[in-house]
Amino acid sequence: MGAGSRQRRREAGTRKAVEPSLALQMPIVGRTRDLPRGSDHPSALDALSCVTRALRDRVRFEAPLADYTTLRVGGPAEAFLRVRTSEELTEVVLACRRSNIPWFLLGGGSNLCVSDRGVPGLVIHNRNEDLIMGEPIRVGTGHSLAGLFRRSVSHGLVGLEFAVGIPGTIGGALVSNAGAYRRSIAPLVRSLEIIDGQGLRSVGPEWMEFGYRDSRLRRSGSTGECLVSVELDLVPGDREGALAEARGYQRNRIFRQPWAPSAGSFFKNVYDVELARRIPGLPKDLREAGVVPAGYLSAECGCKGMVRGGCAVSPRHGNFIVNLGSGTAADVRALADEVRRRVHLQFGVMLEEEVLYVGEW
Ligand SMILES: Cc1cc2nc3c(=O)[nH]c(=O)nc-3n(C[C@H](O)[C@H](O)[C@H](O)COP(=O)(O)OP(=O)(O)OC[C@H]3O[C@@H](n4cnc5c(N)ncnc54)[C@H](O)[C@@H]3O)c2cc1C
Repeated sequence: MGAGSRQRRREAGTRKAVEPSLALQMPIVGRTRDLPRGSDHPSALDALSCVTRALRDRVRFEAPLADYTTLRVGGPAEAFLRVRTSEELTEVVLACRRSNIPWFLLGGGSNLCVSDRGVPGLVIHNRNEDLIMGEPIRVGTGHSLAGLFRRSVSHGLVGLEFAVGIPGTIGGALVSNAGAYRRSIAPLVRSLEIIDGQGLRSVGPEWMEFGYRDSRLRRSGSTGECLVSVELDLVPGDREGALAEARGYQRNRIFRQPWAPSAGSFFKNVYDVELARRIPGLPKDLREAGVVPAGYLSAECGCKGMVRGGCAVSPRHGNFIVNLGSGTAADVRALADEVRRRVHLQFGVMLEEEVLYVGEW
């Protein structure tokens, strides 16, 4: 049986499920919330009655989110809908906001640890790949970041070489200001189309309040904003040079990073000049820049290879928690807590997660 027919059978099966209830007033945006499932709130179908029939018919229930995250852990989405264009994304998000439906926007699922109990409300799987190639490029936030590098470079536009090995979508990259090799996506942003309390509107990059692996959308108090599309300043340049640079980065990742399912670096690196000075074994360039890699701290505390249930801290990289095959979100969290505890005990530093916990914990 092909993957397509398996998927169709699964969808047919899930449609038979009892119509679920959607329980919360607050949207869920990338962080742990206590989200009870109740019965006195509108169902997904009722609440989405204002969106087109074509979209409504695509809603699935109890969709297993482990299939949509790179860590391959987590329970089901109460309701799940894939959108493919800016129009569809806007329509669904505005409908959820109007109806007080809790919603969560899922990109490539490469920066998430979804709870074993799953995510209540509607998970909107963003596959908005709208693209207008130009200067600037305008791209839907559901487009893959690495895919955009390939497409833009084939048009002779460069600037995204650093991003070639970063999985996930443009939207997820913007939320965490994704980057590598001392570059990140923030400086490329010219403007964004967003949905917030004022509806659909255009804003400048300052609205994002970008920081190191951070933006306003990661912080508490976020009220369910959605990034619909973005204009990126990519510039005409040397196509062969860009491809060669990207290949170098890819090779580097293949040697450095574990291959087992993960969500990439679990903790943020620590920017602390004092701490960097205190660690004699730290490479000189990092000491001078005052950067202490979280993986270095984890390794120094003997965390590499540590196992909890079906997950482990990779023996290859102290900042990667990997799924050995049967891992659960609880295993991931237990490992993360233990790494944080040991690093705090030995270095007095509280590591901060780069990975976002999502759903009911
Ligand atoms: C092997 C591996 C290597 C990695 N290497 C790197 C690296 O080098 N550098 C780096 O920075 N990261 C890295 N990552 C982490 C991850 O790939 C990035 O953070 C990525 O940008 C996340 O994108 P995503 O689409 O998967 O987001 P998701 O994980 O799907 O979502 C992340 C958050 O963004 C929110 N979100 C997503 N789209 C939108 C939107 N349109 N509007 C509003 N909110 C939205 C989600 O709700 C969620 O809160 C790596 C991950 C893996 C698995």
